Amino acid sequence: MVDKTIVQTYTTQNPAETEALASHIGLLLKGGEFIELVGDVGAGKTTFVRGLAHGIGSKDRVSSPTYTTTNVYRGRLEMHHIDLYRLEEPGLMSHSLMELAQDKSSVVVIEWPKLVEGILQMPAIRVEFSSSKEEERTLRISTPRSYGYLGAKL
Ligand code: ADP
Ligand code: MG
Repeated sequence: MVDKTIVQTYTTQNPAETEALASHIGLLLKGGEFIELVGDVGAGKTTFVRGLAHGIGSKDRVSSPTYTTTNVYRGRLEMHHIDLYRLEEPGLMSHSLMELAQDKSSVVVIEWPKLVEGILQMPAIRVEFSSSKEEERTLRISTPRSYGYLGAKL
């Protein structure tokens, strides 16, 4: 399937700005989206998820699921927050991701997605974080054209 991507770059100056950007995106989510977050420890991935959760109207507390692998937040949509930092082989996780991919009322957001890349034969939004100085972060967001409804914010 040919699905061109649109790439946009944002710079945030503090965690609140990263959250606000993600919250705008969260507001536009319809369910069925996959979002991959790529960047070092401390880059701002979990902070971004906090904004997304706010955007889908969830009041659930967002924390890093590093030890539990998956957290679920409920708002207007259900969001599965997955962190694969400690996963050693894709195994059951790739199976549950394929099941989640069928569920159009859920959003899936994955920190450290490398292990499952290529397993999911579906387009994903990809956010690459880099830290330039102190509290400045650069977010490079690649959006497949099929997610075009996410609009000008992406
Ligand atoms: P990750 O999930 O990528 O390991 P976290 O979101 O858990 O990262 O942590 C990011 C850390 O960086 C937090 O302590 C946060 O306060 C800090 N931070 C500083 N500036 C920013 C920024 N512009 N965006 C996001 N987080 C920032
Ligand atoms: Mg994290």
